[in-house]
Amino acid sequence: MSSRSCPRTSTAWQTCYSSLPDTRTTRSAPRMWCGAPRPVEANVDASRAHRGNINPENCPKAPACRRGKGQQAVSLEVKRLHLGATPGGADAWPVHGFVVTYPGGAALVDTGVGGPPDVIRDWEVVNITAADALAGLGLVPGDIDLVINTHLHFDHCGQNAVFKHAAFYVQRAELDRCRRESPTIYDWFDFQNASFELLDGDAGIRPGLSVIATPGHTSGHQSVLVAGEDGAPDLLIGDAAYTPRQYWPEPGQLPPGQAADEDAWHASVTRLRALRPGRVHFCHHTDVVHG
Ligand SMILES: [Zn+2]
Repeated sequence: MSSRSCPRTSTAWQTCYSSLPDTRTTRSAPRMWCGAPRPVEANVDASRAHRGNINPENCPKAPACRRGKGQQAVSLEVKRLHLGATPGGADAWPVHGFVVTYPGGAALVDTGVGGPPDVIRDWEVVNITAADALAGLGLVPGDIDLVINTHLHFDHCGQNAVFKHAAFYVQRAELDRCRRESPTIYDWFDFQNASFELLDGDAGIRPGLSVIATPGHTSGHQSVLVAGEDGAPDLLIGDAAYTPRQYWPEPGQLPPGQAADEDAWHASVTRLRALRPGRVHFCHHTDVVHG
């Protein structure tokens, strides 16, 4: 798949899943895994909020950390969206986005596969529109206040244009990388009046919702932390790890495409593990790793 050229560019297709490992090898999973998404009602435990090495100023539980005794906890919920699947029959890989709801609004983390229909058809991608996927949750695109792109590969930002009303939270380094390496993909979401909130490293987005910079898969990759009910955050890991095998316990031989910069990738995954997330959600695997 990687040997083919993108029909919209003269360059090799910049794909996340041209090189994804065989899912069958991940089925002998540790007991900590389950096979279903898990809604979260987050009641933040401030006493555990700063474990790990995240900057306290950017801690996903910073609102709880600053909150005095007796004040109500932040309540967030994570719901998985099925936005598509790769070719491969039984070996097909899912493409997930995630909706994070918070009091008064909702955020979407990654928007799935995009591009002209002929591109999707040519690559045999089973595409699901973001609107259809959201409808499954009783939502419409207008319910999404903001979009967080973990990175700007085509299966993570492909439907940004559906959310022209929303702000896009992207690492500045990632936008620069995409503009430099994948100008055609960049054109998909650099639409008129696109509103970018460019980030330089870790950042709080909403109370209980934060991003941390996790370079390695791409130079500007970021992961998302959501305040969890047990004091441990939900981690939306993007492509920092394609599957549980790359996350825990040790990744072994990395599949091609997992890390553009292996040293940076190892540092990022080590940092993510140190946060001791309560649940790790993957874009290309249906299992959830429980910490
Ligand atoms: Zn990717």
